[in-house]
Amino acid sequence: MTTRTTSGLFGDLAVDAEFDAPIGRDSWFAVGGTADILLHPHDADALSEIVRRCRRQGVPLRILGEGANLLIDDAGVDGVVVRLDRPAFRGLERNADGDIELVRVGAGADLAKTLMELARSGLAGLEALMGVPASIGGAIRMNAGGAFGSIGDAVHAVACLDAHGAARLYPASELRFDYRRTNITDPIVTSAVFRVTPDDPVGLRARIKEIAAYKKSTQPLADKSAGCMFRNPTDPETGERTSAGRIIDECGLKGFRLGSALVSPVHANFITVDRGGRARDAIRLGDEIIRRVRDARGIELEREVVVWRRDDHEASVES
Ligand SMILES: Cc1cc2nc3c(=O)[nH]c(=O)nc-3n(C[C@H](O)[C@H](O)[C@H](O)COP(=O)(O)OP(=O)(O)OC[C@H]3O[C@@H](n4cnc5c(N)ncnc54)[C@H](O)[C@@H]3O)c2cc1C
Repeated sequence: MTTRTTSGLFGDLAVDAEFDAPIGRDSWFAVGGTADILLHPHDADALSEIVRRCRRQGVPLRILGEGANLLIDDAGVDGVVVRLDRPAFRGLERNADGDIELVRVGAGADLAKTLMELARSGLAGLEALMGVPASIGGAIRMNAGGAFGSIGDAVHAVACLDAHGAARLYPASELRFDYRRTNITDPIVTSAVFRVTPDDPVGLRARIKEIAAYKKSTQPLADKSAGCMFRNPTDPETGERTSAGRIIDECGLKGFRLGSALVSPVHANFITVDRGGRARDAIRLGDEIIRRVRDARGIELEREVVVWRRDDHEASVES
């Protein structure tokens, strides 16, 4: 259990600290516990120092984006959670490196706001991501995307902090963006540079509206969830990636409920949780879906949603 003594580790840094921060309630699932300490660094130096000190002291460190792909256990998480939500990490710089077709965006910036702002300036590149709730850093980490493309398609370079708190910059040629994965092993994405192309703002706005309408018609966006619970698996017979939602549906699990958690009747790969429900119900329901799909179809579903649990440091930055 993290003690308040841990907070003394950061007292001299340019950070705001919150204790018992309700990161579960504030996540897109809107269930789950608190973070013992949530730190909001003001600048890159403070962030590097947090990484270094956590590593030195063996304090687990996790990075929180918009919380749209996270399920926080009801007992919360120990160690330190960092959120890059101060202005130093949310900027948008046009003409990055003097190139009109490059923009640099801080990892803490909101993806939807960023792509809308680019569209208003007549810059195309990220509009395929409309309707994906994310910070830029979380979207890069997950290679967020869907029917219209993934964020990796637009990446020119990504800046990270490594496990020692040192800055690293990766050009696109060194990066691989696969289905909901990247080859980035550094624990923190701090910013990304995207390739953009000048385009007609009116046409761009129309396309964004079209993509938003498609998402609204295919996903239960009004319910509390973290989007797709499972990665689309590879069909053992065809070797092709196949829809996890369709398989779950075919196993008769649409509408299946465990406590406060429900397999969405709209999209079987979404688990939703009732207002005031429990994260553990969603975790148990996920486990039950994995078991039933394995028994019925011999397919091993893998969680896309990241689960954070107290004392489970697999999810945290190696220290
Ligand atoms: C209604 C709904 C619809 C969705 N639809 C889609 C969709 O169509 N396509 C899709 O791909 N996803 C979808 N998602 C999932 C989610 O939007 C994405 O996974 C998104 O990339 C999560 O970003 P985030 O900032 O919220 O990350 P979080 O949920 O906060 O974190 C997710 C992971 O990223 C890590 N992370 C966050 N920020 C950083 C950083 N700066 N550096 C390093 N690691 C970081 C976290 O530690 C964690 O491991 C949906 C979610 C919801 C709730």
